Amino acid sequence: MSEARLIDGRAEAEALRLRVTAEVAELKARHGLTPGLAVVLVGEDPASEVYVRSKGEQSRAAGMHSVTHKLPADTPQSALIDLVRQLNADPAIHGILVQMPLPKGLDEKAVIEAIDPDKDVDGLHVVNAGRLSQGLPALAPCTPVGCMILLHQTLGEDLSGLRAVVLGRSILVGRPVAQLLLQADCTVTIAHSRTRDLASVCREADILVAAVGRPRMIPGDWIKPGATVIDVGINRVPFDDPVKAAEGRTKLVGDVDFKSARRVAGAITPVPNGVGPMTVACLLANTVTAARRIRGI
Ligand code: NDP
Repeated sequence: MSEARLIDGRAEAEALRLRVTAEVAELKARHGLTPGLAVVLVGEDPASEVYVRSKGEQSRAAGMHSVTHKLPADTPQSALIDLVRQLNADPAIHGILVQMPLPKGLDEKAVIEAIDPDKDVDGLHVVNAGRLSQGLPALAPCTPVGCMILLHQTLGEDLSGLRAVVLGRSILVGRPVAQLLLQADCTVTIAHSRTRDLASVCREADILVAAVGRPRMIPGDWIKPGATVIDVGINRVPFDDPVKAAEGRTKLVGDVDFKSARRVAGAITPVPNGVGPMTVACLLANTVTAARRIRGI
């Protein structure tokens, strides 16, 4: 039996970064505009620090203006909101991203709502979510945008009429990816923890997007033969090798059981190096889009 084609997120992200870099150079040369991204990190969560560093490095490498604000974990809500307001008013900044999750005691929703929707490059503000749900131009969340780029790369421009099943309904991934699939004229089902007979729902999918956060939850026999599988999940688990596991070593796996799924699917994203690399590349692309819109270009 032939194996599914691997969807190479790393290569696709690199191609997108090159397009963004060229666009930034053009905006500088023709319009004197340098897109600017501000990333705010509160506290010292090690995973968040890695993400924030990578966002800073990649935006600078693309020629953007990039600033990182690091605040202590005990920062009061009012001080964080003041910083967001300062960035809203800063003409050199076109994109603002507050790294989530925030430390306990800070109200994530209130912080997101304080961001100017035109600078909300994470696409989490209710204005952007509303615009997306009405099919209006919006800054859409980065990971869902990345999923759509990978789907178009795999299946071509026309996804019309395909049955898409999205597992997960978070505002960060599940809901916005479902909206983008709907905009692409797919027939969309959103499944979640209360969905009955998840296996049958998944088996209907020409496109299956898994954003659950449960390691290897979706086995190969839930997948329609030939389907395209986008695995958003990032889960850290012990190595299968008992020696490595005993040393406490861990690895990353997706929500899909890659081994069995690969024997059934037509194409599949690996974890790591599937959806993951697309997220930061799409953040850069969103920042360029925001800069263009703010300047009316
Ligand atoms: P959330 O925890 O916010 O949402 C998970 C969703 O999965 C919820 O809607 C939940 O349903 C649903 N769910 C949970 N258990 C089940 C189950 N047994 N059966 C069916 N549905 C279930 O997670 P996120 O959306 O933020 O992230 C999902 C995954 O994607 C995580 O692994 C995360 O690490 C990863 N991720 C990866 C990114 C990347 O760059 N590649 C970026 C962002 C996230 P309900 O609503 O009913 O509770």
